[in-house]
Amino acid sequence: MTRYVDTLLQILRHDPKSSYDVVIVGGGGHGLSTAYYLATRHGITNVAVLEADYIASGNTGRNTTIIRANYGIPEAVRFYQHSLEMYQGLEEETGAAILHQTRGIFWIAHTETSMRTERARAAMNTACGARTVMVSPAELKELVPQVDLTGGGRYPVLGASHHLEGATARHDRVAWAYASGASQRGVHVLEHTPVTGLLRDGDRVVGVETPRGPIAAGVVLSAVGGRVTAMAAHAGVRLPVRTHPLHAFVTNNYEQGLGAIVASTELSCYVSQTERGQMLIGAEFDAQPSYSRQSSFAALRSYSYKITRILPFLRDLRILRTWAGICDISADFSPIMGATGVDGFLITTGWGTWGFKAIPAGGEGMAELIATGRPPALIAPFGLDRFRRDHVLADQGSAGTR
Ligand SMILES: Cc1cc2nc3c(=O)[nH]c(=O)nc-3n(C[C@H](O)[C@H](O)[C@H](O)COP(=O)(O)OP(=O)(O)OC[C@H]3O[C@@H](n4cnc5c(N)ncnc54)[C@H](O)[C@@H]3O)c2cc1C
Repeated sequence: MTRYVDTLLQILRHDPKSSYDVVIVGGGGHGLSTAYYLATRHGITNVAVLEADYIASGNTGRNTTIIRANYGIPEAVRFYQHSLEMYQGLEEETGAAILHQTRGIFWIAHTETSMRTERARAAMNTACGARTVMVSPAELKELVPQVDLTGGGRYPVLGASHHLEGATARHDRVAWAYASGASQRGVHVLEHTPVTGLLRDGDRVVGVETPRGPIAAGVVLSAVGGRVTAMAAHAGVRLPVRTHPLHAFVTNNYEQGLGAIVASTELSCYVSQTERGQMLIGAEFDAQPSYSRQSSFAALRSYSYKITRILPFLRDLRILRTWAGICDISADFSPIMGATGVDGFLITTGWGTWGFKAIPAGGEGMAELIATGRPPALIAPFGLDRFRRDHVLADQGSAGTR
C-alpha cells in the first residue's frame, strides 16, 4: 500500500516545463482550488501552480478556519453561501478528510445600534439564502451556557444573531485536498519556486520569471495573498489594496467543550474550539499596514481582554501558540477577482481576513473565467473595474468581527 507521505511527495516531484497554458502564482487555497477546478470542471490540465515556499505557508495555513455567509451585502452573501455549500460537499468530492464541522455562529450585540445591525443582517442574509435568526440573551445562555450575559459588567449582552450553517474545516487539509486533486489530473504543483518577475510581450503578460528559469504561459493568475501589491507592480498594475497583519492564538484544551463559534460586534473578537480541543481566538487586523508576521504582545493582551469579557472561563486556560498572517485588504473590504486591464494577467486578491471560506467558490469562479473568458455571475460584481466605475461593494461585515 502506498504511504500517505509518498503520495504527497509524488505530487510535488516535478521539474517545471518551459511552457503551460495557465501559470498560477501562489500555492495557497485560492491558487490550488483554481487549478483543481480548471482540471475537474474544464479539462484544462496543462497548468502549473508555483509556490514560493511550501503549500499553504501563507494565510491558508494560518487562519482561524471559520466558514460563514452572514455578510453585509447581497452580492457577498450569495457568493459566500455558495462557497459554504461547496465546503459541505468537499470531503465527498475530493475524498480528503478536511474535518468539516457545522457549528453555527453567534454574533453577540452589546448596544442598540448593534442590535439594529444584527437584525438587518439576519433579515438580509435569510433573504439571500444564508439562514440567520435573532436570539434573546436567555436563548443565547441556554445554547452557550459559558457566556457571561453581563459582559464582565461593561458589555451587557442585548441579543445575538445566529448564523445556523457557520462551520469550520481544517485549513491545511483543504489546501492539500485541492493540491492532490489537481495533481492527480496532471497539474504541476511546484513548491519553493518563487515568481520574481513577469515576462512581457508588448502590453501582454506572456509568462513568469523564476530562479528555475523563465516559464511561458497563456494566462498568468496572481493568487499570492498579502504579496499582491508587489506582484501586480510587475505588470504595471496599481491596486486599491493595503496589507495589514492579523494575529491569532490558541490555548490549551478546554475539556467541557464549546460547540458553537462565538463573536462579539463591539469587542471585535471571536472564538471557536479546534478539533483537538484547543480554543482558537482571533480579532481585527492591525490598523498599521505592515508585512510583519511577528506576533505581538499588544495584540495578545488586547484580544485576551476582549474575549474574556464574554467567555470568562478562558481566563483559566493558557496561551500555547500565537502567530500572524499578512492580509491584502481592499478599499471596500470586498475581494477583487478577474481581469486587471493587462492582457494575460488575472488576479484573485483582497481576501484579507476572510478568504478561507471563499476558497471553493473563488477557485470555481476563477477557473470558469479562465476557461471561458467570461466571469460567472457570482464573481462578476467583484471585478477590479468596480473602482473605476465608482461601484464599490463596501462591506465591513467581511472582517469577521463587525
Ligand atoms: C490569523 C488569520 C485568521 C484568519 N481567519 C480566517 C477565518 O476564520 N475565515 C476566513 O474565511 N478567512 C480567514 N483568514 C483569511 C484567509 O486565511 C485568507 O484570506 C486566505 O487564506 C487567502 O488565501 P490565498 O490563497 O489568497 O492566500 P495565501 O494562503 O496567503 O497564499 C498565497 C501564497 O502565495 C505565495 N506567494 C507569495 N508571493 C509569491 C511569489 N512571488 N511567487 C510564488 N508564490 C508566492 C505565498 O507563499 C503563499 O503560500 C484569516 C487570516 C489570518 C492571517
